[in-house]
Amino acid sequence: MRAQEIAERLERFSKRIGKKLSGKKEKIKERYTITGDIISYSMCPRQYGLYRFYGFAPSNPTQEWYGSVIHRFLKRAHTVYRVDKRVIGEDDVEELFRKVESAMEAEGVRPSSPQVRERVIALLKEFCRLLAGDFIPKIEEAELRLIKELPHFILYGIVDALKVEGGEFEIWDYKGMERPEPSTPLGRKKIEIYTKQMFVYGYLFKERNGCYPRRAVLLFMNELLKGESLKEKLSRAVYEIDFTDEKTVKEVEGFIREFSEIVREIEKSKESGRWELPSQIDKKTCLACDFRFDCPKFLSL
Ligand code: SF4
Repeated sequence: MRAQEIAERLERFSKRIGKKLSGKKEKIKERYTITGDIISYSMCPRQYGLYRFYGFAPSNPTQEWYGSVIHRFLKRAHTVYRVDKRVIGEDDVEELFRKVESAMEAEGVRPSSPQVRERVIALLKEFCRLLAGDFIPKIEEAELRLIKELPHFILYGIVDALKVEGGEFEIWDYKGMERPEPSTPLGRKKIEIYTKQMFVYGYLFKERNGCYPRRAVLLFMNELLKGESLKEKLSRAVYEIDFTDEKTVKEVEGFIREFSEIVREIEKSKESGRWELPSQIDKKTCLACDFRFDCPKFLSL
């Protein structure tokens, strides 16, 4: 068959399927998450590159135990409510906790010490005593997955809880930590990063549902073990982002552009193999990092 004939046939085939045939391969869009990619890269590009790009596994999986056990427990508490129509109380915590713990043990993830384990149990009991009765029945969905295809990549996020309060939606994210201290530069940076995480969830929610949720809430769980009164505990534990405020919505749109910039930086690092050190980082984060021993930033702290 002559080349001319082949070209004509391909042309006819292209018209039939309604697509241009091209020798160029389309770039497959990568999926980026705010927590796994943007926050990790913003905290420390070097650590992100070594774990996520080069695939080194954390040598100490206990680091992920604390946050993970809290999330899994709260998801189970929601499931118990859905299935049995009952909110778990303080007395149910140990039994439910053991189930979650066994599942994690089977995956090789354990607490770093018995004290840490006891602390989480105390924290979950406090959650059940103070919040569960009002909070859990209002959860519409736990671990809500949201996704949106953007021009150069796919944006993805998992919201810990979608709550309905007075007919309006709220998105909640549990943080197994104390509230970062806004009086320090690093504390401010962390609050800013977590706020942006909620901006992304708010945006993804809007893209799926046509409107923003009323508010997003970061729940800094460790604060429940501090303070005396409920008011005192909640004033530290709950950090709110109000999506009914036009200023917030403008900031969200600005951040979605910024997010795209960070994705571009990650992709540049992937191409060049250069994973920079962060300008600011706290010693606690570095002490839990497998790559600290030859890290110039850690050695300078
Ligand atoms: S030690 Fe700290 S600065 Fe160095 S790679 Fe690890 S997290 Fe980053």
